[in-house]
Amino acid sequence: MSMDNKGILYVVGTPIGNLSDLTPRAAKTLEQVDFIAAEDTRVTLKLLNHLGIKKPMMSYFEHNKQFRGELICKRILEGESCAVVTDAGMPCISDPGEELIKQCAEYGIKTEVVPGPSAVISALCVSGLYTGRFTFEGFLSVNKKSRREHLLTLVNEQRTMIFYEAPHKLANTLKDFYDTFGDRRLTIARELTKLHEEIIRTTTREAFERFSDGSLKGEMVLVLEGAPEVKEEEYTLSDAVSLAMKLVEEGAKASDAAKEAAKVTGFKKNEIYRELI
Ligand code: SAM
Repeated sequence: MSMDNKGILYVVGTPIGNLSDLTPRAAKTLEQVDFIAAEDTRVTLKLLNHLGIKKPMMSYFEHNKQFRGELICKRILEGESCAVVTDAGMPCISDPGEELIKQCAEYGIKTEVVPGPSAVISALCVSGLYTGRFTFEGFLSVNKKSRREHLLTLVNEQRTMIFYEAPHKLANTLKDFYDTFGDRRLTIARELTKLHEEIIRTTTREAFERFSDGSLKGEMVLVLEGAPEVKEEEYTLSDAVSLAMKLVEEGAKASDAAKEAAKVTGFKKNEIYRELI
């Protein structure tokens, strides 16, 4: 936290289940700000009670964000400091906050992040899938058509894909995954950091067969393997020589044709040239 915390918006991460995951810095920030903008003040009140903190709160959620955002910015511009929090995890990640940061940027208000857990990164880390490159897809739409369109854009996606999911929609999603992507590796990361945490490393087909009955409950993240890498075409020496011959027939000199065919096929120029003549 800055020495002088006036006129700042703090974007504060809170636990995704296990209260011990609240960082000391997050606790200190919540204690020191003038007020807290919370997605659901009842949920945040429980956290504050756990920490023994008393602090004025203002609700900030999807349907009041425009109006409340202006009000929050006004108070910060007048010298107050504010922490924005959501029910769980990082604000702005499938949760309110994004608009508020934009408004702060427009007003030139300083923002500081106080990072905490987020289900997307936590699930990716334990997925057992490739973590080098990934995409976050958020929640799929409940509208059948836009859901389908969204998934179709991902058919050739090679990066690992991460989706948030609600348990009552899981059966439909697993069917759509199997229909769209065929059989691929899939990890279902359920109830992370909580008592019934479970990491199910399965495939789209097996998951569709096992969990379409709606038996899987709780909060979950779906981590889907990316599409296989498209292999570059593999050439034989005979392909390389045929290509060079074709170029010669079209008027190229044998050495130039061998050079060009070498570039395309990866064989050595001399090797192709020898066969060619
Ligand atoms: N802002 C939060 C974050 O940073 O992760 C996400 C909030 S979003 C409204 C809620 C979704 O996050 C859930 O439907 C689920 O997909 C995922 N999620 C949150 N907590 C989780 C947990 N403990 N285990 C598994 N998934 C979780």
